[in-house]
Amino acid sequence: MGDARDAVRKSYPLLPLRNVLVFPGITISLEVGRPKSLRAVDIARASGNELVMCAQKSTEITDPSPEDIYNVGTLGRIKEVAKAPSGNLRIVVEGIRRVRISSYDALEPAYMVTIEDLLERRPRPDENKVLVKTLMEQYEEYVGVTRNVPAETLISIAGVSEAGRLCDTVTTHIPIPISEKQELLETVSVIERTERLLDVLNREIEIAGLEKRINLRVRRQIERSQKEYWLREQMKAIQKELGDKGDGPSEAEEFRQKVEEAGLPDDAKERALREIARLEKMPQASAEAVVVRTYLEWLVSLPWNVVTEDTIDIEHAEKILDQDHYGLDEPKERILEYLAIRKLVSKPRGPILCFVGPPGVGKTSLGKSIAKALGRKFVRISLGGVRDEAEIRGHRRTYIGALPGRIIQGLRTAGSKNPVFLMDEIDKLASDFRGDPAAALLEVLDPEQNHQFSDHYLEVPFDLSKVMFITTANSTHTIPRPLLDRMEVITLPGYTEEEKVEIASRFLVPKMLKEHGLTPTNLTIRRDALKEIIRSYTREAGVRNLERQVATICRKTAKDVVAGNKKRVVVTAKNVNKYLGIPKFRYGQVEKEDQVGVALALAVTEYGGDVMPCEVSVVKGKGKLTLTGQLGDVMKESAQAALSYLRSRSADLGLEPDFYEQVDIHVHVPEGAIPKDGPSAGITMACAIASALTGKPVRHDLAMTGEITLRGRVLPIGGVKEKVLAAHRAGVSKVILPLDNKKDLEDIPDNVRDDIDIELVSHMDQVLALALRDGRDPELETLACLDGLKQGQQGQDVAVNHVS
Ligand code: ADP
Repeated sequence: MGDARDAVRKSYPLLPLRNVLVFPGITISLEVGRPKSLRAVDIARASGNELVMCAQKSTEITDPSPEDIYNVGTLGRIKEVAKAPSGNLRIVVEGIRRVRISSYDALEPAYMVTIEDLLERRPRPDENKVLVKTLMEQYEEYVGVTRNVPAETLISIAGVSEAGRLCDTVTTHIPIPISEKQELLETVSVIERTERLLDVLNREIEIAGLEKRINLRVRRQIERSQKEYWLREQMKAIQKELGDKGDGPSEAEEFRQKVEEAGLPDDAKERALREIARLEKMPQASAEAVVVRTYLEWLVSLPWNVVTEDTIDIEHAEKILDQDHYGLDEPKERILEYLAIRKLVSKPRGPILCFVGPPGVGKTSLGKSIAKALGRKFVRISLGGVRDEAEIRGHRRTYIGALPGRIIQGLRTAGSKNPVFLMDEIDKLASDFRGDPAAALLEVLDPEQNHQFSDHYLEVPFDLSKVMFITTANSTHTIPRPLLDRMEVITLPGYTEEEKVEIASRFLVPKMLKEHGLTPTNLTIRRDALKEIIRSYTREAGVRNLERQVATICRKTAKDVVAGNKKRVVVTAKNVNKYLGIPKFRYGQVEKEDQVGVALALAVTEYGGDVMPCEVSVVKGKGKLTLTGQLGDVMKESAQAALSYLRSRSADLGLEPDFYEQVDIHVHVPEGAIPKDGPSAGITMACAIASALTGKPVRHDLAMTGEITLRGRVLPIGGVKEKVLAAHRAGVSKVILPLDNKKDLEDIPDNVRDDIDIELVSHMDQVLALALRDGRDPELETLACLDGLKQGQQGQDVAVNHVS
C-alpha cells in the first residue's frame, strides 16, 4: 500500500528518539530540542509532515551518528506542533508503519534516509482471535498485580481486535527497556511478537508479585510497630485516667537518669544500662520485667558514690562518748585510742572492734556513739541465727524473690559508702549445708578483699573498704577463730548496782520520759525505787530489763496523766510494786539459813556473772558418784578431783577411811538447764560434798570460786570481776577467791569491795575452815546415819539437805 509513495519519495528526514519508541498506530507527543532534530521536523513539515523515527541505541549520546541509531523504526506523521514551556518544540506524531533504513542520503542539516517497508506477517483470523484473547488475559493479570496502569490505557486497549496492533499498544504502555521494545518492533511475525510479549508480561508479573510480597512484609513490620506505638499511647491514656503518673519520662528513661545520678562505677553502669535496654523490650507486666525492675532499683539506690566527711576530733569524740554513757572508762579509752590511730594513719587497715559482754551493757549504743562522733551514718544488722551464706552474700537472681545479702541491704539503709556498720551477735553465727556464713564474713571484714565485695544478687562488686565495721558478741568462745583473729576485743563486763542506779537516773529515766511524752514534773522515780527495781525486778549484768521496767512505769503514768487521774507521780521503793507488780526476784538468792550440802558457786555465763547453788546428797550405796545439771566433762573431772581430795582428808574430816564405799554421792547444779562447764566450781563442789558427808552446814552468805587439784591446792580462775559483781547482786557478804587472782581485785569497783569480804585462799583446807560451821546439824547428821547402817540397823536412806 505504501509502495506507490515509496516510489515518489525517496528520502525522509530522520528523528532519532531517546528512551521512547513510536509504534505504528500509536499517537504520541514528543519533545524535540536537539538542533538536528529540530531541523528534521522543519524539513518534514515542509514536505508533507512525514518523517522516520528510530531509537538511539544509547540514551546518553546527544549527537548520534548513524551507527548509534537502530536501523528499524517507524514512519510517522506529524499532527501538531507547539512550543513547549521549556522552549523546546512539542510535536504530536502518529506511527504509520514499520520501516528499515536502507541508506543515509544526507547527514546535514538533518539526517535524510531512504527506507524500505517491513511487512508484517499476520496470523490467520482464528489464530488472531486466540492471540488477542491470551494477550488480553495476560495483560489484565499484569494490570492486576502492578496496579499502575492508567484507566485510559485500558480503554484504548479494549477496542483493539488485531493481535499485531494489540502487541504494539501494550508494548508502548509497559515500562520495559528500550532494547526490548526495539526487539518487539523488529519482529514482523505477529505470532512471534505476541509470544515474546507474553514472555515479557509473564516475567513482569512475577517481578511485580515478588515486589508485592516484599512490600507486604515491610508494611506488616511497620504496621506492627505502629500498633505497639498506638497501644502504648492507649496505655498512657489509661494510666492517666487512673491517676497513675503515666506521663512524663518513660520508666527506662527514668532509670537511665538515676544511673547517671547514682554515679555507678563503670562495670556496674554498663550492667545497669544493659538491663535497662532489656527492660524496654519486655512487656511491662511480665514477671521477668518485675525481676529486672527490682534489680535496677537496687543498683541505683546503693550509695556507690556517697561518702560522708569524717570528723576525727578526739576531744569531741570523748565528749560524745561521755554524753551517752556512764562509766565504761576502759572501753571508752580503748575506743579513743582506736580512733586516734585511724586519724594518724590515712588508710587504716586496723583490726575490727569487737565489743564483748552480756546483753544490755551498751555495746550497740557505744557503736552508735562512735558513728555520731565521727559524723558517719550508723547501721546495725543482727547475725544471730544466720546459717545461710546467702544471708550475707545474697541469693542469685535466678531464685524467685532473690535479694541482696544483709551487708548490701545495710549499706542501702545507711545511704553512704562509709557508715559505721555494727554486726550484732557475731558469736551466734551458725553454719550448715547451706554454706558457711563465717567464710563470707571473713571476706567482708578483710581489708585486702573487701574493696571488691561481690554479692550474688548484684553481680557487680561493691567497695566496702570505707566501711567501719564493729561487731558485738556475748562471749568470744563461739566466734570462729579466723574471725576472732581479725578483731580487737573490748570487754564490757557488766555494771554494779551503784552504776546501774546512776545509768538509770542519768540516762534511762530521762530517755524513757521523753519517749513517753512525759516531763520530770509528771514523774519522779526516786533512787531508792531504782535500787528496788534493780534488786527485785531484774537480775542481769546489763541494764536492758531495767530500761524495760522504767518504760513500764512511764507507760502506766502516761495512762494516768492522760486519763486525768493524776498530774504527778512519785515512785519510791515502797510503792514501786503498784507499778510493776509483785517482785520477780528475791533480792539475794542467798538462803536465809546455813544448810548442809549446799554451797554457792560463782560462774560466768553469756548473761554475765552468776551465783549458782551446788547441791549434794549422800545416800546409802556402793560408792557411785552421780553428776547432774548439764555439766560438762571438765566440771565432772573437777568433781572427781574434789572427791579424791576429800578421801585423802577423811581422817581430818572425821570420816571412816572407806566411807566412800558405803554411799552414793549425787552432785547437782541446778539453774534452768544452762550447760555448765569449766573447773572453777571445783572448790565449791568439794565444799558441798564435805558438808554433806560431815553434816556440818555451809555458811549461807558465802560464795566461792576456784579450781581444785587432787592435793587440795586452789588454782586461779577467770572472770573475777563478773563473778564478784554477781555475788554482790545476789547479796553475798563473803567471797572466797584463789590467792593467785589477787591482781584481778583492782578491777572490782570500790563500793563493791566495801560491801563484800574477799578471802584469798591457796588451799582447800582454808576453804573448809572458812565455809563450814562447826557443830553438826543434829537432825541431818549423815554420818550418824551411816554409823547406824554399819551397825546393821535397817534405817531408812537419808537424803541429806538440799531442796530449799
Ligand atoms: P547491748 O548492745 O550491749 O545489748 P545496748 O547498747 O542495746 O546493749 O544497751 C541497752 C540500753 O542501755 C540502751 O538504751 C543503752 O543506751 C543503755 N545503756 C547501756 N549502758 C549504758 C551506759 N553505760 N550509760 C548509759 N546508758 C547505757
